[in-house]
Amino acid sequence: MTDAIVIVGAGHAGGRTAETLRAAGVTAPIQLIGAESYPPYERPPLSKDLLTGKIAVEKTYIQPAAYWAEHDIALVLDAPAAALDRAAKQVRLSDGRVLDYATLVLATGGRPRRLSLPGSDSGRVRYLRDIEDTRAIRAALGPDARLAIVGAGVIGLEVAASARALGAAVTVLEVAPMPLGRVVDRALGEWFMALHRGHGVDMRMGVSVQAIRDGAGGAVLELADGATVAADLVVVGIGIVPNAELARDAGLTVDDGIVVDQFGRTADPAIFAVGDVARAFHPTVGRHVRLEAWRNADNQSRAVARVIAGGSEPYVEVPWMWSDQYDINLQVAGLPSAVDASVRRGTDDKFTVIQLKDGAVVGGVTVNQGRDMRPLQQLIAKAAQVDAERLADPAVPLAQIAKGA
Ligand code: FAD
Ligand code: NAP
Repeated sequence: MTDAIVIVGAGHAGGRTAETLRAAGVTAPIQLIGAESYPPYERPPLSKDLLTGKIAVEKTYIQPAAYWAEHDIALVLDAPAAALDRAAKQVRLSDGRVLDYATLVLATGGRPRRLSLPGSDSGRVRYLRDIEDTRAIRAALGPDARLAIVGAGVIGLEVAASARALGAAVTVLEVAPMPLGRVVDRALGEWFMALHRGHGVDMRMGVSVQAIRDGAGGAVLELADGATVAADLVVVGIGIVPNAELARDAGLTVDDGIVVDQFGRTADPAIFAVGDVARAFHPTVGRHVRLEAWRNADNQSRAVARVIAGGSEPYVEVPWMWSDQYDINLQVAGLPSAVDASVRRGTDDKFTVIQLKDGAVVGGVTVNQGRDMRPLQQLIAKAAQVDAERLADPAVPLAQIAKGA
């Protein structure tokens, strides 16, 4: 009987899982199976500093390339897993290799949701998920390039900011009335719209792309209102689809992600899931949620690895993400939910928004005001009841309020 641990998905969460298992003293063989050619890396720079050319690819690696062999972790790259056999406890790779496991961790992340309309298979249409995508987009960008972005989510707006830094002309097309609808409220959406317009981006909200025509002079995007947009490159950022098919086909519960508990466990005691692909029970939120953020990939995987190593602590953390666009740092804590009051403190270009429901702090946003983020998360973790007037008072630091809460 093997005691091997197989991790499918050599991305951020998969890499951290392997690393944490070894750090926790696990001596069993560990195989980290990746579909890509690169060792585990972080994706945030892909739309930011890697795209603008500020950093080299190696800077995105979560560990130096030599680390894995040095820690006796078998990194198997360019080797997508094709199927699971839960009865035999085996993973079959697409090249035919079969791996036995005692414990299996699924860390397969997600893939970009594809546009499905006439012409969307054009070679000028690109998505951004991996290093090769960043390379291809960067190669097509430059001072004379015309870039059309479909989707004003985080990918869309970060690529817009990076492309402006490279001198490209940028048009953002979004069907919703405001950008970043999944992340911030309408008032903040307006703030981000003004930010991008101020940097020369043509922000077109409430528009729907109907077709993409490819011609010698570039692509032409046809909008529902009859308008057209010419572009050399089209980048689409309309969300991701979790890579949960291996789990689904093996009979595990999948519901927009692999359903796991707060320890990362599926209903099969030998199988865990972590990162973007996992819909985990979150004690701080009180339900199952699938988070698509760096910190969840980083810390949930560590927590789950410690459980596999024999620990008993669940993953408990306030959901948090950030985005950098131009010289703006946005941080968001908590999950978007119906709130009944929002308190804003700060100036027009450095501020914090605190969201309340039934008098309790449930979420918040900082814009160039990162020092408020820690106390904000403390307040959210405690669901602290704080008087809105006190929260709005600039004379009282948020850290002081959090201490007394
Ligand atoms: P991934 O990083 O996607 O890794 C999954 C890996 O599994 C991939 O390498 C994939 O190839 C592999 N895989 C899939 N199927 C198989 C298979 N069958 N066999 C073997 N391998 C397989 N979050 C933030 O909080 N802030 C940011 O600023 C931010 N910026 C981002 C910018 C970009 C461009 C992107 C794409 C994401 C960004 N994120 C950001 C989100 C964050 O990067 C993700 O939440 C994180 O990468 C999730 O890690 P993961 O390991 O679960 O998935
Ligand atoms: P996103 O932030 O989820 O935004 C996608 C947007 O596209 C949503 O507003 C979505 O609307 C909309 N949409 C969905 N289906 C559509 C369709 N068929 N046509 C048009 N619009 C559609 O996703 P993203 O910006 O593409 O980012 C992809 C992934 O990368 C995510 O996991 C994201 O977290 C990650 N990422 C994160 C950061 C960051 O955190 N700073 C930066 C870059 C990338 P609905 O909400 O109505 O579905």
